[in-house]
Amino acid sequence: MDVWFTENQTASVRLGLKVQSVLHQETTPYQELVVAETAAYGRMLVLDGAVQTTTVDEFVYHEMITHVPLMIHPRPKKIGIIGGGDGGAVREALKHPSIESVHLIEIDAQVVAAAKRYFPEISLELDNPRAHVHCTDGIEWVRQARDFDVMVVDSTDPVGPATGLFQAEFYQSVASALGDDGVMVAQSESPYLEPDVIQMVVRGMRSAFPIVRLYLAAIPTYPSGFWSFTLGSKGPLPGPADAQRTNFATRYWTPDVHQACFQLPKFVEDLLL
Ligand code: SAM
Repeated sequence: MDVWFTENQTASVRLGLKVQSVLHQETTPYQELVVAETAAYGRMLVLDGAVQTTTVDEFVYHEMITHVPLMIHPRPKKIGIIGGGDGGAVREALKHPSIESVHLIEIDAQVVAAAKRYFPEISLELDNPRAHVHCTDGIEWVRQARDFDVMVVDSTDPVGPATGLFQAEFYQSVASALGDDGVMVAQSESPYLEPDVIQMVVRGMRSAFPIVRLYLAAIPTYPSGFWSFTLGSKGPLPGPADAQRTNFATRYWTPDVHQACFQLPKFVEDLLL
């Protein structure tokens, strides 16, 4: 008998993945957490019915949410990652030798525990001495954070505890937590299925940052497979990657992708008017 996982991505779109085994299932204080082995995308982390990470395509998301803002900042040393309890963004950030500390602010300690147990190739840097894991609400935490160079918002969809991570007031707190050349990025959903979320994020970020740009990546297990990230900057602009700083291994991000990802199709540009 075939067993299928179905994600209701919207009221009228579903993703179906054939499941080989369910490895873990629990209700945490914040969400329902499932780890399953899939036939096509490897091991998968699901929160409240939504795919967060699979071992086959996680590299796209984690490289693009991390290397793009880190390369845009001229000298990143102190990084904050809000959400991201799987550890993939921490792993990518620590590929940059200039990084002195990465602070991961994940509300749900059970996500970190499941990542360490079931996703060692994603979470492997969480025990690095430069990584500091804080299991608390990122919205509260960021209000007292200061002198960060880059802040990455690696959140779930804008429901439950992540709702506030998509609001203007939060972006204003992030701007206050960043130094003069500060750069932030937030995952901002799909231009096909969630254009309203993109517009809300862009509007909110424009209230806090003088420079706001959208960029794109292809992530097959996320709704529509066509994913957006929104970048807010206090000064540094997207441009060529500094060749002195690109000496690390990646599978999706390259210096060419770094520039090309900001080239938007017309219908996406029109969302930003
Ligand atoms: N990279 C994947 C993606 O975008 O789908 C995974 C993201 S990561 C697993 C998202 C994390 O954000 C979840 O583990 C969730 O617990 C966390 N999260 C949601 N709201 C949060 C908040 N207010 N503060 C800190 N973490 C939060």
